[in-house]
Amino acid sequence: MIDTDAVVIGAGPVGLFQVFQLGLLGIKAEIIDVLPEAGGQCMALYPDKPIYDIPGVPVCTGRELTQQLLQQAAPFLLVDTGSSKATPRNLHLGQMVARLAPQATGGFVVETEEGPSFHAKAVFIAAGAGAFVPKTLSIPELQGAANLHYHLPSFDDHAEAAAWAGQHLVVSGGGDEALSAVASIMQAPAAQRPARLTLLHRRAQFQAEAPLAEAVQALIDQGAIELAVGMPTGTRIQNGRIEALSLLNADSATVELPLQHLLIRQGMSPKLGPLTNWGLALERKQLSVQAHSFETSVPGIYAIGDINTYPGKKRLLLCGFHEATLAAHHAAAALHPEAPQHLLYTTTSPLLHKRLGVAP
Ligand SMILES: Cc1cc2nc3c(=O)[nH]c(=O)nc-3n(C[C@H](O)[C@H](O)[C@H](O)COP(=O)(O)OP(=O)(O)OC[C@H]3O[C@@H](n4cnc5c(N)ncnc54)[C@H](O)[C@@H]3O)c2cc1C
Repeated sequence: MIDTDAVVIGAGPVGLFQVFQLGLLGIKAEIIDVLPEAGGQCMALYPDKPIYDIPGVPVCTGRELTQQLLQQAAPFLLVDTGSSKATPRNLHLGQMVARLAPQATGGFVVETEEGPSFHAKAVFIAAGAGAFVPKTLSIPELQGAANLHYHLPSFDDHAEAAAWAGQHLVVSGGGDEALSAVASIMQAPAAQRPARLTLLHRRAQFQAEAPLAEAVQALIDQGAIELAVGMPTGTRIQNGRIEALSLLNADSATVELPLQHLLIRQGMSPKLGPLTNWGLALERKQLSVQAHSFETSVPGIYAIGDINTYPGKKRLLLCGFHEATLAAHHAAAALHPEAPQHLLYTTTSPLLHKRLGVAP
Protein backbone atom coordinates (compact mmCIF):
# COMPACT_ATOMS: atom_id res chain seq x y z
CA MET A 1 0.00 0.00 0.00
CA ILE A 2 1.52 3.32 -1.09
CA ASP A 3 0.68 6.15 1.31
CA THR A 4 0.37 9.52 -0.41
CA ASP A 5 -1.29 12.92 -0.23
CA ALA A 6 -3.17 12.52 -3.51
CA VAL A 7 -3.93 9.98 -6.22
CA VAL A 8 -4.70 11.16 -9.75
CA ILE A 9 -6.66 8.61 -11.80
CA GLY A 10 -5.84 9.12 -15.49
CA ALA A 11 -2.59 10.37 -16.99
CA GLY A 12 -4.23 12.24 -19.85
CA PRO A 13 -3.43 15.92 -20.37
CA VAL A 14 -5.64 17.04 -17.49
CA GLY A 15 -4.28 14.41 -15.06
CA LEU A 16 -0.71 15.46 -15.89
CA PHE A 17 -1.53 19.13 -15.31
CA GLN A 18 -3.26 18.15 -12.06
CA VAL A 19 0.02 16.65 -10.79
CA PHE A 20 1.78 19.92 -11.67
CA GLN A 21 -0.78 22.11 -9.88
CA LEU A 22 -0.77 19.85 -6.80
CA GLY A 23 3.02 19.92 -6.77
CA LEU A 24 3.08 23.72 -6.82
CA LEU A 25 0.90 23.62 -3.70
CA GLY A 26 3.19 21.12 -1.97
CA ILE A 27 0.85 18.14 -2.41
CA LYS A 28 2.53 14.88 -3.43
CA ALA A 29 0.63 12.83 -5.99
CA GLU A 30 0.70 9.35 -7.49
CA ILE A 31 -0.76 9.15 -11.02
CA ILE A 32 -2.21 6.01 -12.63
CA ASP A 33 -3.28 5.12 -16.18
CA VAL A 34 -4.29 1.90 -17.85
CA LEU A 35 -2.42 2.87 -21.02
CA PRO A 36 1.30 2.10 -21.36
CA GLU A 37 2.06 5.78 -22.01
CA ALA A 38 0.84 9.12 -20.67
CA GLY A 39 -1.24 11.55 -22.77
CA GLY A 40 -4.79 10.13 -22.81
CA GLN A 41 -6.75 11.04 -25.95
CA CYS A 42 -3.88 13.22 -27.23
CA MET A 43 -1.64 10.14 -27.58
CA ALA A 44 -4.25 7.42 -28.09
CA LEU A 45 -6.40 9.20 -30.68
CA TYR A 46 -4.51 12.07 -32.31
CA PRO A 47 -0.76 12.06 -31.54
CA ASP A 48 0.23 13.65 -34.87
CA LYS A 49 -2.74 15.97 -35.43
CA PRO A 50 -2.49 19.70 -34.69
CA ILE A 51 -4.16 21.50 -31.76
CA TYR A 52 -4.66 25.25 -32.27
CA ASP A 53 -6.42 26.42 -29.10
CA ILE A 54 -3.95 26.10 -26.22
CA PRO A 55 -3.30 29.62 -24.85
CA GLY A 56 0.13 30.88 -25.89
CA VAL A 57 0.81 27.83 -28.08
CA PRO A 58 -0.35 28.67 -31.61
CA VAL A 59 -0.05 25.05 -32.74
CA CYS A 60 1.21 21.74 -31.37
CA THR A 61 0.40 18.08 -31.95
CA GLY A 62 -1.16 15.79 -29.36
CA ARG A 63 2.25 14.19 -28.84
CA GLU A 64 4.01 17.55 -28.42
CA LEU A 65 1.42 18.73 -25.89
CA THR A 66 1.90 15.51 -23.90
CA GLN A 67 5.68 15.93 -23.95
CA GLN A 68 5.39 19.56 -22.79
CA LEU A 69 2.99 18.59 -19.98
CA LEU A 70 5.34 15.82 -18.84
CA GLN A 71 8.24 18.26 -18.92
CA GLN A 72 6.26 20.86 -16.97
CA ALA A 73 5.25 18.27 -14.35
CA ALA A 74 8.81 16.84 -14.17
CA PRO A 75 9.68 18.58 -10.86
CA PHE A 76 6.87 16.53 -9.31
CA LEU A 77 7.45 13.25 -11.18
CA LEU A 78 9.89 11.23 -9.12
CA VAL A 79 12.63 9.74 -11.25
CA ASP A 80 15.07 7.65 -9.17
CA THR A 81 18.52 9.18 -9.37
CA GLY A 82 21.03 6.84 -10.96
CA SER A 83 18.25 4.69 -12.44
CA SER A 84 18.21 4.06 -16.19
CA LYS A 85 14.41 3.57 -16.01
CA ALA A 86 12.76 6.62 -17.55
CA THR A 87 9.30 6.07 -16.00
CA PRO A 88 8.92 8.11 -12.82
CA ARG A 89 8.25 6.21 -9.58
CA ASN A 90 4.91 7.99 -9.03
CA LEU A 91 3.64 7.46 -12.62
CA HIS A 92 1.96 4.04 -12.73
CA LEU A 93 1.24 3.06 -16.34
CA GLY A 94 -0.52 -0.06 -17.61
CA GLN A 95 -2.65 -0.18 -14.43
CA MET A 96 -6.46 -0.09 -14.41
CA VAL A 97 -7.94 1.52 -11.29
CA ALA A 98 -10.67 -0.90 -10.26
CA ARG A 99 -11.81 0.30 -6.83
CA LEU A 100 -12.02 3.57 -4.90
CA ALA A 101 -13.42 3.51 -1.37
CA PRO A 102 -13.56 6.09 1.44
CA GLN A 103 -12.06 4.82 4.72
CA ALA A 104 -13.80 5.15 8.08
CA THR A 105 -10.45 6.32 9.48
CA GLY A 106 -10.19 9.08 6.85
CA GLY A 107 -8.87 9.28 3.33
CA PHE A 108 -9.42 6.83 0.51
CA VAL A 109 -8.11 3.50 -0.69
CA VAL A 110 -7.49 3.25 -4.43
CA GLU A 111 -6.87 -0.23 -5.82
CA THR A 112 -5.60 -1.20 -9.24
CA GLU A 113 -6.59 -4.47 -10.91
CA GLU A 114 -3.19 -6.12 -10.78
CA GLY A 115 -0.75 -3.53 -9.47
CA PRO A 116 -0.27 -1.39 -6.38
CA SER A 117 -2.88 -0.04 -3.96
CA PHE A 118 -2.78 3.45 -2.50
CA HIS A 119 -4.00 5.27 0.57
CA ALA A 120 -4.61 8.94 -0.25
CA LYS A 121 -5.99 11.98 1.54
CA ALA A 122 -7.59 13.24 -1.69
CA VAL A 123 -8.40 11.67 -5.07
CA PHE A 124 -8.57 13.44 -8.44
CA ILE A 125 -10.44 11.56 -11.16
CA ALA A 126 -9.15 12.67 -14.57
CA ALA A 127 -10.57 9.66 -16.39
CA GLY A 128 -11.69 11.41 -19.60
CA ALA A 129 -14.18 9.32 -21.52
CA GLY A 130 -13.08 6.29 -19.50
CA ALA A 131 -10.17 3.88 -19.44
CA PHE A 132 -8.77 3.35 -22.91
CA VAL A 133 -8.84 -0.34 -23.72
CA PRO A 134 -7.75 -1.82 -27.04
CA LYS A 135 -10.41 -3.01 -29.48
CA THR A 136 -9.96 -6.71 -30.02
CA LEU A 137 -11.00 -9.52 -32.39
CA SER A 138 -14.33 -11.12 -31.56
CA ILE A 139 -12.78 -14.50 -30.79
CA PRO A 140 -13.18 -14.93 -27.01
CA GLU A 141 -10.67 -17.84 -26.83
CA LEU A 142 -7.84 -15.42 -27.69
CA GLN A 143 -8.12 -13.52 -24.43
CA GLY A 144 -5.35 -14.27 -21.95
CA ALA A 145 -3.11 -16.03 -24.51
CA ALA A 146 0.55 -15.55 -23.61
CA ASN A 147 1.53 -14.47 -27.14
CA LEU A 148 -1.31 -11.95 -27.64
CA HIS A 149 -0.19 -8.29 -27.58
CA TYR A 150 -1.89 -4.94 -27.94
CA HIS A 151 0.93 -2.48 -27.32
CA LEU A 152 4.27 -1.89 -28.98
CA PRO A 153 7.26 -2.29 -26.69
CA SER A 154 9.80 0.47 -26.42
CA PHE A 155 12.48 -0.54 -28.87
CA ASP A 156 15.11 0.84 -26.47
CA ASP A 157 14.10 -1.89 -24.07
CA HIS A 158 15.72 -5.04 -25.40
CA ALA A 159 14.03 -7.37 -22.91
CA GLU A 160 10.52 -6.30 -23.96
CA ALA A 161 11.18 -6.18 -27.67
CA ALA A 162 12.65 -9.68 -27.59
CA ALA A 163 9.14 -11.21 -27.23
CA TRP A 164 8.70 -11.55 -30.99
CA ALA A 165 12.28 -10.94 -32.16
CA GLY A 166 13.29 -13.54 -34.74
CA GLN A 167 9.76 -15.07 -34.86
CA HIS A 168 6.62 -14.80 -37.01
CA LEU A 169 4.52 -11.83 -35.91
CA VAL A 170 1.03 -11.17 -37.26
CA VAL A 171 -0.23 -7.58 -36.91
CA SER A 172 -4.03 -7.29 -37.14
CA GLY A 173 -5.63 -4.07 -38.42
CA GLY A 174 -5.74 -1.80 -41.44
CA GLY A 175 -5.86 1.69 -39.91
CA ASP A 176 -3.24 4.15 -38.67
CA GLU A 177 -2.56 2.16 -35.46
CA ALA A 178 -1.72 -1.09 -37.28
CA LEU A 179 0.22 0.51 -40.11
CA SER A 180 2.27 2.77 -37.85
CA ALA A 181 3.05 -0.30 -35.69
CA VAL A 182 4.27 -2.15 -38.79
CA ALA A 183 6.40 0.86 -39.81
CA SER A 184 7.91 1.17 -36.30
CA ILE A 185 8.67 -2.54 -36.08
CA MET A 186 10.38 -2.50 -39.47
CA GLN A 187 12.51 0.48 -38.35
CA ALA A 188 13.54 -1.21 -35.08
CA PRO A 189 17.12 -2.49 -34.71
CA ALA A 190 17.51 -5.77 -36.65
CA ALA A 191 17.93 -7.84 -33.48
CA GLN A 192 14.55 -6.67 -32.21
CA ARG A 193 12.59 -7.31 -35.42
CA PRO A 194 10.49 -10.42 -36.11
CA ALA A 195 11.92 -12.82 -38.69
CA ARG A 196 8.62 -12.67 -40.57
CA LEU A 197 5.87 -10.05 -40.34
CA THR A 198 2.37 -10.50 -41.74
CA LEU A 199 -0.18 -7.70 -41.80
CA LEU A 200 -3.68 -9.14 -41.44
CA HIS A 201 -6.62 -7.08 -42.67
CA ARG A 202 -10.06 -7.91 -43.95
CA ARG A 203 -9.44 -5.98 -47.18
CA ALA A 204 -6.43 -5.21 -49.37
CA GLN A 205 -7.09 -1.45 -48.93
CA PHE A 206 -6.06 0.43 -45.78
CA GLN A 207 -7.87 3.21 -43.86
CA ALA A 208 -4.75 5.13 -42.88
CA GLU A 209 -3.13 8.48 -43.72
CA ALA A 210 -1.98 8.31 -47.36
CA PRO A 211 1.83 8.56 -46.76
CA LEU A 212 1.67 5.79 -44.13
CA ALA A 213 -0.51 3.56 -46.32
CA GLU A 214 1.90 4.11 -49.24
CA ALA A 215 4.96 3.29 -47.11
CA VAL A 216 3.41 0.02 -45.88
CA GLN A 217 2.22 -0.88 -49.38
CA ALA A 218 5.81 -0.38 -50.58
CA LEU A 219 7.04 -2.82 -47.88
CA ILE A 220 4.46 -5.37 -49.12
CA ASP A 221 5.43 -4.83 -52.76
CA GLN A 222 9.14 -5.27 -51.89
CA GLY A 223 8.33 -8.53 -50.07
CA ALA A 224 9.66 -7.14 -46.77
CA ILE A 225 6.32 -7.96 -45.15
CA GLU A 226 3.37 -10.14 -46.16
CA LEU A 227 -0.30 -9.22 -46.42
CA ALA A 228 -3.00 -11.71 -45.37
CA VAL A 229 -6.49 -10.69 -46.44
CA GLY A 230 -9.36 -12.30 -44.57
CA MET A 231 -11.77 -12.17 -41.66
CA PRO A 232 -10.52 -13.94 -38.51
CA THR A 233 -13.17 -16.44 -37.43
CA GLY A 234 -11.40 -18.80 -35.03
CA THR A 235 -8.15 -19.81 -33.47
CA ARG A 236 -6.04 -22.83 -32.58
CA ILE A 237 -4.62 -22.57 -29.08
CA GLN A 238 -2.17 -24.91 -27.37
CA ASN A 239 -0.71 -24.56 -23.87
CA GLY A 240 -2.13 -21.04 -23.56
CA ARG A 241 -0.49 -19.86 -26.79
CA ILE A 242 -2.14 -18.97 -30.10
CA GLU A 243 -0.74 -21.25 -32.76
CA ALA A 244 -2.88 -20.08 -35.70
CA LEU A 245 -5.87 -17.98 -36.72
CA SER A 246 -8.61 -19.26 -39.04
CA LEU A 247 -9.43 -16.74 -41.76
CA LEU A 248 -12.42 -16.53 -44.02
CA ASN A 249 -11.00 -15.29 -47.30
CA ALA A 250 -12.61 -13.46 -50.25
CA ASP A 251 -13.48 -16.82 -51.88
CA SER A 252 -15.46 -17.79 -48.74
CA ALA A 253 -12.84 -20.44 -47.99
CA THR A 254 -11.40 -20.92 -44.51
CA VAL A 255 -7.61 -20.89 -44.42
CA GLU A 256 -5.20 -21.14 -41.50
CA LEU A 257 -2.59 -18.49 -40.71
CA PRO A 258 0.06 -19.99 -38.41
CA LEU A 259 1.83 -17.48 -36.16
CA GLN A 260 4.07 -17.17 -33.12
CA HIS A 261 2.88 -13.77 -31.89
CA LEU A 262 -0.29 -11.77 -32.56
CA LEU A 263 -0.34 -7.97 -32.18
CA ILE A 264 -3.85 -6.52 -32.42
CA ARG A 265 -3.81 -2.84 -33.43
CA GLN A 266 -7.42 -1.95 -34.17
CA GLY A 267 -7.67 1.25 -32.16
CA MET A 268 -8.77 2.05 -28.64
CA SER A 269 -12.19 2.58 -27.15
CA PRO A 270 -12.88 4.20 -23.78
CA LYS A 271 -14.60 2.06 -21.15
CA LEU A 272 -16.25 3.94 -18.31
CA GLY A 273 -16.27 0.62 -16.46
CA PRO A 274 -15.15 0.61 -12.86
CA LEU A 275 -15.86 4.22 -11.90
CA THR A 276 -19.61 3.75 -12.20
CA ASN A 277 -19.35 1.52 -9.09
CA TRP A 278 -17.59 4.00 -6.84
CA GLY A 279 -20.78 5.50 -5.35
CA LEU A 280 -20.31 8.94 -6.98
CA ALA A 281 -23.21 10.95 -8.41
CA LEU A 282 -23.35 10.56 -12.19
CA GLU A 283 -25.28 12.50 -14.81
CA ARG A 284 -25.39 10.94 -18.27
CA LYS A 285 -22.19 8.96 -17.60
CA GLN A 286 -20.28 12.04 -16.33
CA LEU A 287 -19.35 12.76 -12.72
CA SER A 288 -21.37 15.66 -11.30
CA VAL A 289 -19.14 18.29 -9.68
CA GLN A 290 -19.40 21.68 -7.98
CA ALA A 291 -18.13 24.28 -10.45
CA HIS A 292 -16.16 26.24 -7.82
CA SER A 293 -14.18 23.28 -6.43
CA PHE A 294 -14.67 20.39 -8.88
CA GLU A 295 -15.48 18.18 -5.92
CA THR A 296 -17.81 15.24 -6.67
CA SER A 297 -20.70 14.15 -4.45
CA VAL A 298 -18.07 12.72 -2.05
CA PRO A 299 -15.94 15.38 -0.31
CA GLY A 300 -12.24 14.81 -0.99
CA ILE A 301 -12.88 13.19 -4.38
CA TYR A 302 -12.51 15.61 -7.29
CA ALA A 303 -13.30 15.09 -10.99
CA ILE A 304 -11.63 17.17 -13.67
CA GLY A 305 -11.44 17.19 -17.45
CA ASP A 306 -13.73 15.31 -19.82
CA ILE A 307 -15.11 13.01 -17.12
CA ASN A 308 -17.02 15.72 -15.22
CA THR A 309 -20.17 17.70 -15.83
CA TYR A 310 -21.56 20.97 -14.47
CA PRO A 311 -23.65 23.78 -16.00
CA GLY A 312 -21.79 25.20 -18.98
CA LYS A 313 -19.22 22.37 -19.18
CA LYS A 314 -17.10 22.28 -22.35
CA ARG A 315 -14.91 19.28 -23.10
CA LEU A 316 -11.83 21.28 -24.01
CA LEU A 317 -8.24 21.00 -22.80
CA LEU A 318 -8.23 24.62 -21.61
CA CYS A 319 -11.31 23.97 -19.43
CA GLY A 320 -9.71 20.84 -17.96
CA PHE A 321 -6.55 22.79 -17.05
CA HIS A 322 -8.67 25.47 -15.31
CA GLU A 323 -10.58 22.77 -13.41
CA ALA A 324 -7.35 21.09 -12.28
CA THR A 325 -6.07 24.42 -10.94
CA LEU A 326 -9.17 25.19 -8.91
CA ALA A 327 -9.46 21.59 -7.65
CA ALA A 328 -5.83 21.71 -6.42
CA HIS A 329 -6.44 24.97 -4.54
CA HIS A 330 -9.63 23.62 -2.98
CA ALA A 331 -7.88 20.41 -1.89
CA ALA A 332 -4.91 22.35 -0.46
CA ALA A 333 -7.26 24.44 1.69
CA ALA A 334 -9.15 21.32 2.82
CA LEU A 335 -6.00 19.32 3.63
CA HIS A 336 -4.18 22.19 5.39
CA PRO A 337 -6.87 24.54 6.77
CA GLU A 338 -4.31 26.02 9.18
CA ALA A 339 -1.98 27.16 6.37
CA PRO A 340 -2.37 30.67 4.87
CA GLN A 341 -4.03 30.38 1.46
CA HIS A 342 -2.24 33.26 -0.30
CA LEU A 343 -2.15 33.10 -4.06
CA LEU A 344 1.50 32.81 -5.11
CA TYR A 345 2.87 33.58 -8.57
CA THR A 346 5.38 31.26 -10.22
CA THR A 347 7.12 34.40 -11.51
CA THR A 348 7.95 35.86 -8.13
CA SER A 349 7.46 33.31 -5.31
CA PRO A 350 10.69 31.91 -3.80
CA LEU A 351 8.62 29.03 -2.33
CA LEU A 352 7.29 28.06 -5.76
CA HIS A 353 10.80 28.42 -7.22
CA LYS A 354 12.04 26.00 -4.57
CA ARG A 355 9.27 23.51 -5.36
CA LEU A 356 9.97 23.84 -9.09
CA GLY A 357 13.69 23.32 -8.49
CA VAL A 358 14.58 26.67 -10.09
CA ALA A 359 15.61 28.56 -6.93
CA PRO A 360 19.10 30.06 -7.22
C1 LIG B 1 -9.71 13.85 -32.39
C2 LIG B 1 -9.78 14.81 -31.22
C3 LIG B 1 -9.29 16.08 -31.35
C4 LIG B 1 -9.36 16.99 -30.28
N1 LIG B 1 -8.90 18.27 -30.46
C5 LIG B 1 -8.97 19.14 -29.43
C6 LIG B 1 -8.56 20.49 -29.60
O1 LIG B 1 -8.13 20.90 -30.68
N2 LIG B 1 -8.64 21.33 -28.52
C7 LIG B 1 -9.14 20.93 -27.31
O2 LIG B 1 -9.19 21.73 -26.38
N3 LIG B 1 -9.58 19.65 -27.14
C8 LIG B 1 -9.50 18.76 -28.16
N4 LIG B 1 -9.95 17.48 -27.99
C9 LIG B 1 -10.50 17.08 -26.67
C10 LIG B 1 -9.35 16.77 -25.70
O3 LIG B 1 -8.51 15.78 -26.24
C11 LIG B 1 -9.95 16.30 -24.38
O4 LIG B 1 -10.72 17.36 -23.85
C12 LIG B 1 -8.84 15.92 -23.41
O5 LIG B 1 -8.10 14.83 -23.89
C13 LIG B 1 -9.43 15.56 -22.05
O6 LIG B 1 -8.36 15.24 -21.22
P1 LIG B 1 -8.56 14.30 -19.95
O7 LIG B 1 -7.22 14.21 -19.32
O8 LIG B 1 -9.73 14.82 -19.16
O9 LIG B 1 -9.04 12.88 -20.51
P2 LIG B 1 -8.35 11.86 -21.51
O10 LIG B 1 -7.46 12.52 -22.46
O11 LIG B 1 -9.47 11.04 -22.04
O12 LIG B 1 -7.46 10.96 -20.54
C14 LIG B 1 -8.06 10.16 -19.57
C15 LIG B 1 -7.11 9.03 -19.19
O13 LIG B 1 -7.64 8.34 -18.06
C16 LIG B 1 -7.39 6.95 -18.21
N5 LIG B 1 -8.34 6.21 -17.37
C17 LIG B 1 -9.68 6.36 -17.34
N6 LIG B 1 -10.22 5.53 -16.43
C18 LIG B 1 -9.18 4.86 -15.87
C19 LIG B 1 -9.09 3.84 -14.88
N7 LIG B 1 -10.19 3.34 -14.25
N8 LIG B 1 -7.86 3.35 -14.57
C20 LIG B 1 -6.74 3.82 -15.19
N9 LIG B 1 -6.78 4.78 -16.14
C21 LIG B 1 -7.98 5.28 -16.48
C22 LIG B 1 -7.58 6.72 -19.71
O14 LIG B 1 -6.92 5.54 -20.13
C23 LIG B 1 -6.97 8.00 -20.30
O15 LIG B 1 -5.59 7.83 -20.61
C24 LIG B 1 -9.90 16.57 -29.04
C25 LIG B 1 -10.38 15.25 -28.90
C26 LIG B 1 -10.32 14.38 -29.98
C27 LIG B 1 -10.85 12.97 -29.81
